[in-house]
Amino acid sequence: MPERTVFPRVKSARFQSGTLLGTQGFALEGALFEHLDPSCVRGLLLDDLGIPVTMRTEHMPLEHYRLSISPKGAVVATADERGALQALRTLAHLASQGPLPIGEIDDGPDLAIRACHLDLKDQHPGRDYIFDFIDRIASMKYNALVVEYEDKFPFSDEVRPRAKDCWTPEHVVKFVEFCRVRGIEVIPLIQTLGHLEFLTPFHPEISETPAMLCPSNPSSAELVNLMVDDILALHPASRFLHLGADETWDLGTCHTCRDTADHEGKGVLYGRHMDRIISHVLEKQVRPMIWADMVLSHPEAFDFIDHATVMVDWDYWPYGERVDKVNIWGLGQHPNEAWEDVPEEQREVFGEYTEIESGDCWAEAFPFTEMLREKGYDVITASAVRSHGDPYTHPDWSYHLPNVWAAARTAVEDGSLGSLVTSWAIRRTLPELTMMGIAAGAECMWQAHIADARWLVDFPARFGEVFIGDRAAGMAEYGLSVRGLGYDETLTQKREDRGGGWAMVPRFDRIKRRLPKYPELDHGALSARVAVLDRSASALLLVKPKDSARKHVELYHLAADEALLKAWIFRVLARLESVPADKTVLKMAKHLHAQLREIKERAARMWKEYLTPTALTSELSFRFDEEDQSLRKALGRK
Ligand SMILES: [Zn+2]
Repeated sequence: MPERTVFPRVKSARFQSGTLLGTQGFALEGALFEHLDPSCVRGLLLDDLGIPVTMRTEHMPLEHYRLSISPKGAVVATADERGALQALRTLAHLASQGPLPIGEIDDGPDLAIRACHLDLKDQHPGRDYIFDFIDRIASMKYNALVVEYEDKFPFSDEVRPRAKDCWTPEHVVKFVEFCRVRGIEVIPLIQTLGHLEFLTPFHPEISETPAMLCPSNPSSAELVNLMVDDILALHPASRFLHLGADETWDLGTCHTCRDTADHEGKGVLYGRHMDRIISHVLEKQVRPMIWADMVLSHPEAFDFIDHATVMVDWDYWPYGERVDKVNIWGLGQHPNEAWEDVPEEQREVFGEYTEIESGDCWAEAFPFTEMLREKGYDVITASAVRSHGDPYTHPDWSYHLPNVWAAARTAVEDGSLGSLVTSWAIRRTLPELTMMGIAAGAECMWQAHIADARWLVDFPARFGEVFIGDRAAGMAEYGLSVRGLGYDETLTQKREDRGGGWAMVPRFDRIKRRLPKYPELDHGALSARVAVLDRSASALLLVKPKDSARKHVELYHLAADEALLKAWIFRVLARLESVPADKTVLKMAKHLHAQLREIKERAARMWKEYLTPTALTSELSFRFDEEDQSLRKALGRK
């Protein structure tokens, strides 16, 4: 039996000895092909000299297929076009590894919606990269993409905000069609209450805080409904619209809102506003989605949220199967020993979904998915591959991989509609570096039961084998080195409330605060970090990528080098603060300053393929200006 890898793993494969020659191309027959364009399947070569592939319809669940490969050619049985596409993707993957094996594959996904997230805020990816990204997630058998447009969407004049590099209506239409032919459903996302920093400056009369509209003012929902109309006009086939509405912690700020919050509860404020928008969306025959954190924080809001709404249960922290710090929305994370501090009222609401064992409180990952299901909502669980807590150079895989796994597994166990792998651009890692987590999501959403604890440990090596290396031994090095980069306090972003306004805290200031005794730094945390990063950067040098993965690995090299250089810079700056005239350290600072310029140039060269020119400029400034200025100051330069 020939060795073959199919990604994501198929449900069942029975191969016999022998292979089928002539896999340089495929010829396609069957009615199903009249409605789809097989040339959109990445890696599928259409050529009259190739093997014939016959497609026939058969009753089976959506996206399922049976692929039979015999010496005469391949036959695909499926019920729908997406099933046909998935079968062709399996064929393409098999053919990329040599002659096709003789045998039969029965396959289909465990979840109906398997979604990725494209976030256009803060770090706007270039158009070519977006199309390439879609092609790649389609080849991993994702079938939905949640697109957070923010001000990149061409809103009408009444709504107003439009970024300098905003999309044109034609671009949106082309993008949606590009996704459609690949079997990817676009789910547009617009914020409708909080996280509206891009909108409020244009509408101060209805804004309650810089990030939030006033939910008591009916004009707020009227404006949002204009945005809904704008979005739906360019997504006429969308079945879903994601209305965001997470983290509206400012509820109850204005006089009117405070009054309602005091007498009826914040959930009533939230619920009434969301109901005005949800009803509007339902009238358009589209199903709304919302992030579930606010209704879970203020359960009185449930009474206002129509049951056709899909609850997106996001939780980016659960490690593995058991959670010892249960996140009670609105109250924060409760380690098991502090469960007694949770007010009785919340204990009654949430207690049923947690376990108390000899005084300890713990829960399974995503404990409240079951609660949302029991309240009668369809649920999508949401994990993250870029989120709060990540360094801005690279994702921290030690918690993203178990998180993606837990979200997919819970979704299957609790009969959810699907799962979504989010990726928050504000965390700044280039989307390309999140591909390992996206691939992990694809595999465990397709087949939750194979994704066990062993699979989780082995996944980086599997990703290395399938996507990075040419099946060469030693690809585990890729996984080990990128995991070794890990969490980095010095490279996370922190905002602080500084006298009524939120501001970024300079990175070096934060390090000083955490490590106040400068003379000890050389033997402290920073030098340990330097050593760890050095090991990871060196291990990456051993990875020998195949041509198609060369750029991906080079980007990882850059991330490791950047993290390492920053660690050195912080270490030297800290040293200079304690001994300003130390000549050896000054020489070192000069050397690091030159390296900083070099790495900035390298980044500018490499990232221009991934970001729009506007996004590239702000990215370079965010990453390098602060250290550049600090080093100049330390060296007595202007
Ligand atoms: Zn208000």
